[in-house]
Amino acid sequence: MATFTPEKPPIHGETKESLVARLALIGESAFRAGQILEWVYKRRAASPEVMTNLSAKLRAWLGETFDFSANELILNKRSNDVTSKLLQRLRDGSLIETVIIRAPQEGVGLDHSRKTICISTQVGCAMGCKFCASGLEGLKRNLSAGEIVAQILHVCRLEDEHAPDKAAAGLASFDNIVVMGMGEPMANYEALMDALRTLNADWGLNFGARRVTISTSGVVPKILKLADEPLGFRLAISLHGATNEVREQIMPVNRAYPLEKLLPACKEFAKKHGRMLTLEFILIKDVNDSLDQARALAGIANDLHAHVNLIPYNKVEGLPWERPSITRQDRFLKELKDRRVSATLRREKGHDIDAACGQLRLKTEKELRAAQPAAG
Ligand code: SAH
Ligand code: SF4
Repeated sequence: MATFTPEKPPIHGETKESLVARLALIGESAFRAGQILEWVYKRRAASPEVMTNLSAKLRAWLGETFDFSANELILNKRSNDVTSKLLQRLRDGSLIETVIIRAPQEGVGLDHSRKTICISTQVGCAMGCKFCASGLEGLKRNLSAGEIVAQILHVCRLEDEHAPDKAAAGLASFDNIVVMGMGEPMANYEALMDALRTLNADWGLNFGARRVTISTSGVVPKILKLADEPLGFRLAISLHGATNEVREQIMPVNRAYPLEKLLPACKEFAKKHGRMLTLEFILIKDVNDSLDQARALAGIANDLHAHVNLIPYNKVEGLPWERPSITRQDRFLKELKDRRVSATLRREKGHDIDAACGQLRLKTEKELRAAQPAAG
């Protein structure tokens, strides 16, 4: 797979231990690592120049050794109300998406309400789900841990003014992370875990594992591995088909990991974590929206004690799939509820800013290519 080695490693890819070791090589004390990380995470420093309690020599070394802006924020598109979509450019020119979703709460403006951020783990995706914009052009490369963390710090910097108490305490200025942006998180497992450990660390953002949900198309060995992690992340499964027959049509991953392998792995995860998992189910017209599918889905959800999240399909340019009518969506939901399944139908917002996974990047890349036909 294509990899990218940057000129300088991003500072956000360092751990406290690795930084202490690097500093020891130049005769600096371990205490300095704590100061540097405090600037980077608690005070959101975007360059070593502002680190005024360090010597000029150490600041210069930091600047020469590490990249402090591995991700450049190039677009911040706020939709009507709840959603903002950020487009970030990496050092090799790759584009990734991060979404901020605001949950309306009584008595508080949207800017001060609960916020979930949706992060990317890869540029593109190799899983090839037939309905998804992220997979349309295949996988370009994995993100490094530092790029994943830097992506999140951009959100902090943008949201700090709306959460001044959290910002002052050096905590993340949002409430939840869902790993549901571009890419298959389980295909970039180690970098994602490194990034999430940094966010969780007391020297990082002190961000609780239970506030992180990892979504997968169903990479069974990694689901089992995640079940053994000491940090208790939440898990969401992109099911989208309640029988092998239907799932196989739209998700090639189902050939390697059909339901008879996937569902026991989910059970194992739920057993180890003692916590409800989520089944994501996009409703696609005439593909998986029949009442037979609803009944089969109810059987799976009841067996796993899982919550079902129904998402009306978000149209992707160039793909033939459509969302079912509202009546049909409601009928599907009712069939689940009649079988006592805990289910929600997300009438998803942000359609107007291409909120579905991978779409904004795809469109921007196409526009960039059209504007510069000579450039690779
Ligand atoms: N690769 C992981 C996480 C990223 S995809 C996964 O598949 O779970 C995040 C979610 O967006 C998945 O549930 C995916 O199926 C869904 N998705 C992709 N394209 C979509 C579309 N056009 N409309 C609605 N949801 C979509
Ligand atoms: Fe990849 Fe998830 Fe899109 Fe499938 S739905 S192609 S796994 S990003």
